[in-house]
Amino acid sequence: MCNGSLFNDEALQIHHVFRRVDGGSNASENLLLLHLYCHQQQHASDKRRKVDSDALQLA
Ligand SMILES: [Zn+2]
Ligand SMILES: [Zn+2]
Repeated sequence: MCNGSLFNDEALQIHHVFRRVDGGSNASENLLLLHLYCHQQQHASDKRRKVDSDALQLA
């Protein structure tokens, strides 16, 4: 999503490629580890989804 390291002290969230309510699973291939900010950007570019509906906060 960005050129930054995932481990640069930014908060991380897990994004579900397919949300659980859409039939997505918690399998690793359905999960993306994103910075909190990048996750918000991901959803900002996809108006059908609301951020945080699928996020697991890690930090
Ligand atoms: Zn990022
Ligand atoms: Zn998400």
